Amino acid sequence: MKTASVWCDILTGKNESSAKTVHDMCYSPDGAQVIVAAGNHVVIYDAIEGTVINALKGHKDTVYCVEYAKDGKRFASGSADKQVIIWSNKGEGIVKYPHNDSIQCLAYNPVTQQLASGAISDFALWAPEAKNVTRNKVPARITSCSWTNDGQYLALGLATGVISLRNKNGDDTKVKIERPGGSSSLPIWALQWSPAKDDSQDILAVADWNRKLSFYRLNGTSVSKDVDIRFDPLFLKFFASNDFIVCGGSGNAVSLFTKEGKEIGVIADSKTPNVLVDSWVTCCAPHPEENAVVIGTASGKVAKMAITFSTVHGLYRERYVYRVGVTDVIVQHLLTSDKVRIRCKELIKKVAVYKNKLAIQLNSRILIYELNDADSMTYRIHSMMHMNIDCNLLVVTCEHVILCMESKLQSITFDGVTEREWILDSSIRYIKVIGGAKGREGLLVALSSGQVLLVYIDNPFPISVLKHSLPIRCLDMSSQRKKIAIVDEENMCLVFDVKTKELLYQEPNANSVAWNTHNEEMLCFSGKDTLNIKASTFPAHQQKMSGYVVGFCGSNVFCLGSASTMTSVEVPQSAAMYQYLERKEFRSAYEVACLGVTDTDWTNLGKQALDALQLEIAKQAFKKTRNLTMLELIHSIEERSRRNPITEPNNQMMFQADIAAYRGEFSNAAKMYRKAGQDNRAATMYTDLRMFKEAQEFMGDSTEKEKKELISKQAEWAKTTNDALTAATMFWEAGQRLKALEIYGESRNYNELQNKLIFLDKADKNELKLCSRYFKEGGQLAYAAEAYQKLGDKKGLVDLFVQFHSWEQAFEFVRNNPEFKEDVFFPYAKHLAEEQGDFERAQEFFFKAGKEEEAGKVLEALTKNAVDQNRFEDAGFFYWKLSAMCIKMACTHGEKEQAMMSKYYSFQKLATMYYTFHAVHRYTEEPFTSHLPEVLFSICRFLLHSMLEKGHFSFVPKGISKVATFLTLAKQSSNPNIAAYKLARQAYDNLQRLSVPVKHQESIDIGTLSVKAKPCSDNAEVEPLCFRCLQKNPLLNRLGNSCVNCKQPFNFSFIGFEILPLVEFVPESGISRDEAMQLISLEPPKSGKKPNQDRDLIRQENGYEQLRLGDDEPLGDEGDDESAMERLINTEMMSLGAQDSYEAIRVSRDILKSLEPTAVLVQKWDEPLQWQFHWMRLRTQPITVCSSCQFMFLTDDWFLASLSKGHCPFCRRTSSRNDHIASTNSNLYVQNGLPSSNGYLNGIL
Ligand SMILES: [Zn+2]
Ligand SMILES: [Zn+2]
Repeated sequence: MKTASVWCDILTGKNESSAKTVHDMCYSPDGAQVIVAAGNHVVIYDAIEGTVINALKGHKDTVYCVEYAKDGKRFASGSADKQVIIWSNKGEGIVKYPHNDSIQCLAYNPVTQQLASGAISDFALWAPEAKNVTRNKVPARITSCSWTNDGQYLALGLATGVISLRNKNGDDTKVKIERPGGSSSLPIWALQWSPAKDDSQDILAVADWNRKLSFYRLNGTSVSKDVDIRFDPLFLKFFASNDFIVCGGSGNAVSLFTKEGKEIGVIADSKTPNVLVDSWVTCCAPHPEENAVVIGTASGKVAKMAITFSTVHGLYRERYVYRVGVTDVIVQHLLTSDKVRIRCKELIKKVAVYKNKLAIQLNSRILIYELNDADSMTYRIHSMMHMNIDCNLLVVTCEHVILCMESKLQSITFDGVTEREWILDSSIRYIKVIGGAKGREGLLVALSSGQVLLVYIDNPFPISVLKHSLPIRCLDMSSQRKKIAIVDEENMCLVFDVKTKELLYQEPNANSVAWNTHNEEMLCFSGKDTLNIKASTFPAHQQKMSGYVVGFCGSNVFCLGSASTMTSVEVPQSAAMYQYLERKEFRSAYEVACLGVTDTDWTNLGKQALDALQLEIAKQAFKKTRNLTMLELIHSIEERSRRNPITEPNNQMMFQADIAAYRGEFSNAAKMYRKAGQDNRAATMYTDLRMFKEAQEFMGDSTEKEKKELISKQAEWAKTTNDALTAATMFWEAGQRLKALEIYGESRNYNELQNKLIFLDKADKNELKLCSRYFKEGGQLAYAAEAYQKLGDKKGLVDLFVQFHSWEQAFEFVRNNPEFKEDVFFPYAKHLAEEQGDFERAQEFFFKAGKEEEAGKVLEALTKNAVDQNRFEDAGFFYWKLSAMCIKMACTHGEKEQAMMSKYYSFQKLATMYYTFHAVHRYTEEPFTSHLPEVLFSICRFLLHSMLEKGHFSFVPKGISKVATFLTLAKQSSNPNIAAYKLARQAYDNLQRLSVPVKHQESIDIGTLSVKAKPCSDNAEVEPLCFRCLQKNPLLNRLGNSCVNCKQPFNFSFIGFEILPLVEFVPESGISRDEAMQLISLEPPKSGKKPNQDRDLIRQENGYEQLRLGDDEPLGDEGDDESAMERLINTEMMSLGAQDSYEAIRVSRDILKSLEPTAVLVQKWDEPLQWQFHWMRLRTQPITVCSSCQFMFLTDDWFLASLSKGHCPFCRRTSSRNDHIASTNSNLYVQNGLPSSNGYLNGIL
């Protein structure tokens, strides 16, 4: 601590020699005025200048006390004249009020501005807003008073040595502090509550003439042991900062104490220059802000004293140790900003830190602390050295404390043993531990003479490092101890080589210097508000900064600013790094970079190092920035450099080219590749870059193959960039024809495909195949064909024609290449069958293709479809087609005849059943039907009879509904025109036994009921008549569609299903078919009226009924008119016994001759079936035989059907003149004897 008087004045009385005792003084809160009580006056001083502004004359007697209000608006004075005067801060009297006795002390409440005034027998409280002054009696003279910081309590120090505590209204709180000494107690002249705002407890400091300094809590208890003082105190004042107490009285001195009462030092005494205290110090006032006090003495002196505390601190690397508030030490980690505080509670004189040791010098001892562990911030006491030595400088090493007193240096162990002493030539200005082994550390010492010495603790002889002409202010040695930097008194920073003592460089404007602890070549120095970072001999990098550099750790510069604040400034090392880079000193640049540079700097370092092929450094740099690409490149170079040594210039060039390429400097890279004789690498690079033109430039001496490869790469690229045509062109050029064609094909560019087709020949198999595929897909038949032809792929060609239905071309081809017949005919047949419905031709082609069974399969599939889709008419038709096919197969494949024939019959039957069921289906599913009830009636019976199997209606092919058939039959039978009520009942009965769809149930129920109202009989007129035996048949016939009597199958007209009046006959054995035909065709001998003609007339007159007469009689009543045939039949029928099977009537040549050709119908079934001959017993209506299916129809119906449908209703064969219409003309010779369907095909093959 140092003190100095700022100003000093002496207040004198009326004559110069009579000094006025200064009784009290106070600062205005702003620190501008000092109010002094001197004699009868209240003197106002200018606190800065120390001049008297005013001497207020309001009191008539000695003024004992003054006090400024805390708001700074007024101050008060109290005097022996028993008056209290309140003055404005301008010095104008505001209020005056009296006490009974002289006023001893004053205290303004810091919160309420209440003024407490203490007198001999009472104290008063006055507030500006209060009307009255309140007075409180006290038992003894009040010698001092003070308000607590919160303004709640007032402490009164009494002359009896008692302290009384009052609340803010003046009431006694009953807390009473009695000072030691009993009845002989001494007055309490000084007391004050501590101004600490953050302390939870109010602390009252008390000083009395027991020469004790004591501290109490609000409840009256002691805080700590009393502290002895060396004088009789008259006053005690806390600094506003609460750091210090100032106290004085006897002894002509005033002293500074810690707030705990530890004396720090004397502020002023008799030796103090300018002030020369020559009497008791009677009063004092600390400055509200500064470390300064004004004091007043009994001899009238008023002086302002400034107090300064030297900076007490130490630094080791990033640990900064400094004193705060004179009693505390803070250790700060400059990089992490962590701080720890060590409280010593007494004045700290010096601190020093080195490695894990911390030395704190107090008044009479040195404390050595040790770090718990290297990285922590926790210190524990290591040892305590009792010694009371004042020294200039103090440093600590691992095992010693080094004291430095003027020119003497002393090493003392922690046990307090002085180990060694060095006496140097002149006083020591600077000392620094520069490291070394434990207990043998080196000290760098700068003397005022300008000499720099190195002192080893274990060596009595200092080593001279260098001698400078000027005193040295600051110095530092580089981490490797190779260089030393000093700052001299002329602010020059000089760097020397330790070994050679050679001056390496010097820099002006320095106040301090520090080497980087991590880098031998780098230092920093400060001065003129600038921080300089200097690496090697490069120009210094500068940045703004004020203060002193004291350390340089990596990229952090530690800087001591004003008020001993230490800051850590992060300095970028980029500048230094680039300086090294410029000089291509990569290793140094890397080392600097390691101290801390940005990613960009690392990248630049990496790049430049890589350029210089400094792979190791480049690698480290790119590792920092995690640049995997570059690391990969380096790795690859390293790998390759094993085979191609990097020392070889050509290899170097190549690697550098690689690097340039990686960096995107392609043309540069290419040039370097060329220089290195690696054109191909340049080409590859450009190819990879899709810079094909450039690539080509470097393909000068490459082979054709390589060039093509390039083009195809280019093409691949073009493809990916959607430039398909270009790509294709390039692929073609590159000989990658397939790829080219693929692109054309995928983009349906048939023009290009055609263009390319020209260039292809048989050898280009794959290309042609691809072309043909695309042409085919694109419907380009001609080109596809061309491709196949070029390929010589006949099968492909045929398939192509087939696929395109280009039948003519296909047939043309087959003509020349018969081996492909099947490949054409079969699909053609299928085409015909499935798409054209032309089964005759289809069948023929199936046969031609040798796929007869296929024909069947196709048809069967179609049939099945038709059934599934309820297209029963079609189903019937397809079954007929199937039957026709079977018979054909039976004919051509003799070995299969039997099987085929049985199939034929089965298909024929199915054909008729579906054909008829169509009508039933339409009747039940559609509300209107074109069929007459009589027709439906017949149809249903025909159908039911077809279902008969061993007496049951059990043969029901898929899709055919027995229910529908019975229902239809029932309804028709109930029709009054038919009136077959018995049959209707039978039908309904059958329906009851069947499971009936719900939709029909109601109509069945109604029908069943209503038919019950009808007679249980059938209208005889509807009962069928057999035209052979002329017997009536039951409506439901157990033999089905054959006569129950003569067993002749009924011949139905296949439209109305009337039974045709035909009698079948066969020529007697020995008469061939042709002869029979011949005989029949002969005109019979004229023998009167033609009986059939007559009948016709009868029918015309009497209608249908007439024919039904005479059931049991032979037709015709004119025996003479009976023809030979008629007679034969009658005879045959008469002799007809019970027969199990049916046999046609055999007729002789004579009878054949006698037959009218027009009365004969021939069903000319295909081989192997026999033709069937029928004689028309009645010729009432002409009958037509379809020349295709050989089914018979009433000609009228046939014509109608032909007109409306254009073909046979059953076989759908277009009606032709070949269809025989009996009773109009004969069908005996009209036919050519060949199956009519054959005619179609002759034209084709
Ligand atoms: Zn019969
Ligand atoms: Zn037909």
